[in-house]
Amino acid sequence: MGDASGVSSGRQERRLRPVGERTTDWRELYLPDDTTVTRGQAGRCMDCGVPFCQGDTGCPVQNVIPEWNALVNAGRWQEASAALHATNNFPELTGRLCPAPCESACVLGLVDQPVTIRNIEQAIADRAFREGWITPVPSVTRIGHRVAIVGSGPAGLAAAQQLVRQGHDVVVFEKDDRIGGLLRYGIPDFKLGKSVLEARLRQLESEGVTFEPGVNVGVDFDASVLRADFDAVLIATGARQARDLVVEGRDLAGVERAMDFLSLQNRVEAGDGVDVPKRLSARGKHVIVIGGGDTGSDCVGTCHRQGARSVLQVEVLAQPPVSRDASTPWPLWPLQLRTSHAHLEGGQRQWEVRTTRIVGSGGKVRAVQAMRGAGETVTLPADLVLLAMGFTGVEPSPLYEVLGATLGPRATVPTDRTHATVTEGVFAAGDARRGASLIVWAIREGRDAAAAIGRYLARAGARRPAPMSRFAASGRIVGHADSLS
Ligand SMILES: Cc1cc2nc3c(=O)[nH]c(=O)nc-3n(C[C@H](O)[C@H](O)[C@H](O)COP(=O)(O)OP(=O)(O)OC[C@H]3O[C@@H](n4cnc5c(N)ncnc54)[C@H](O)[C@@H]3O)c2cc1C
Ligand code: SF4
Repeated sequence: MGDASGVSSGRQERRLRPVGERTTDWRELYLPDDTTVTRGQAGRCMDCGVPFCQGDTGCPVQNVIPEWNALVNAGRWQEASAALHATNNFPELTGRLCPAPCESACVLGLVDQPVTIRNIEQAIADRAFREGWITPVPSVTRIGHRVAIVGSGPAGLAAAQQLVRQGHDVVVFEKDDRIGGLLRYGIPDFKLGKSVLEARLRQLESEGVTFEPGVNVGVDFDASVLRADFDAVLIATGARQARDLVVEGRDLAGVERAMDFLSLQNRVEAGDGVDVPKRLSARGKHVIVIGGGDTGSDCVGTCHRQGARSVLQVEVLAQPPVSRDASTPWPLWPLQLRTSHAHLEGGQRQWEVRTTRIVGSGGKVRAVQAMRGAGETVTLPADLVLLAMGFTGVEPSPLYEVLGATLGPRATVPTDRTHATVTEGVFAAGDARRGASLIVWAIREGRDAAAAIGRYLARAGARRPAPMSRFAASGRIVGHADSLS
């Protein structure tokens, strides 16, 4: 296990492209991995005996972190990749995008800076793709139960991969025109290049997963068809219902939802030839982003790249402490100020700003009026206001009622501990079940749900003879090859 002598080298995070360069394009932020540095950083892992990093307060997928740190330190990258993939279907995603609760729980963090676990994970995953170690792992047996998965975000994709590897026939339905959920339309390309996603989707397809993009289950066909034609159904529809701002002026042109703004830019980068309407472009504008979270930060980074004149991100809550708050001692996920790469690229942040009214003229937004701090009224000039105030649950759809999955008070799908809803054979995972969360949790939920579905199908016995051709006959199922390009 780890080489404790590495501790003395100090924490060194993966370098990002210089701000002045990266804000002029949409390519990923990260500079190529420096193998020598990464091996040294992996050597900082102390093999501390009780690895809190992979325990309950650390990594949600329980990555065997000390094990792959030791392998990387020894230069045994392919074995490190195998150890990493044993617990995490998509480390190339978490290596780029996870907030790394593992690092907040790292024992070295008690006396020094924690190990750069996430960076090491990304280095392993990227090397595995580069070296051609990510190959299809098809099931050696075909059990032949049919599972329908609704939603192709990380939860649906992780479940699909686990189930197809168990030997089941898996169809993933997605209402968007491309597969990927928020990985595709939401998360900006500078955080996740879509070629990274596509490389993984090719693996899933080769393993036998069938993708059906452009199919809105419950609207394009009645969801009861799924129960009739499949042995089990997994709801992995995400929680994309955005929280709205209920103030005067909300309907002015230029007061826009963050997801409309972000996904449009994803489409531009995908080469869809879409025209960005002027009201949805930040170019040359004073932009105010309402909401201090990750979605807001992604809007800030996108505004910089679109050429905004100024960007101000406002948050209703008070500014968190600069270092770990006493209410969240090690190894808990700390309450503390987080500064993203987008914040380092420019713009300003203000806390304790509560929007009271949006002011416009000629039908267009001109300013945001707000109460700041203990009661100061401020008027903040704005030509574009982006609403990034979080998500309230699943988007309304007849799907849930038809599948007997009545939504709970948080507008999510209630299940028991095995991800089973009250309807036999219908399961739920990811943001649709737990509310808006993280990619690593979506992967964990997809894996757990797949295990539960596997056990359910084993109990249910032989597969039913219903054909899947009913979907094709409906004419709603489109070819999936295009979706991967
Ligand atoms: C802008 C933004 C940035 C984020 N950045 C990060 C980050 O950096 N790190 C991180 O860990 N997390 C991040 N997150 C959160 C993360 O993306 C989500 O937690 C994760 O994607 C949830 O996965 P999921 O599979 O449950 O749902 P989703 O990714 O939302 O996928 C659900 C899919 O289901 C589809 N669907 C819904 N209803 C139907 C239907 N009736 N028929 C067919 N398909 C349907 C939807 O179109 C969607 O594609 C971010 C979220 C946003 C919005
Ligand atoms: S998935 Fe997230 S929590 Fe787990 S090891 Fe990777 S960075 Fe850490």
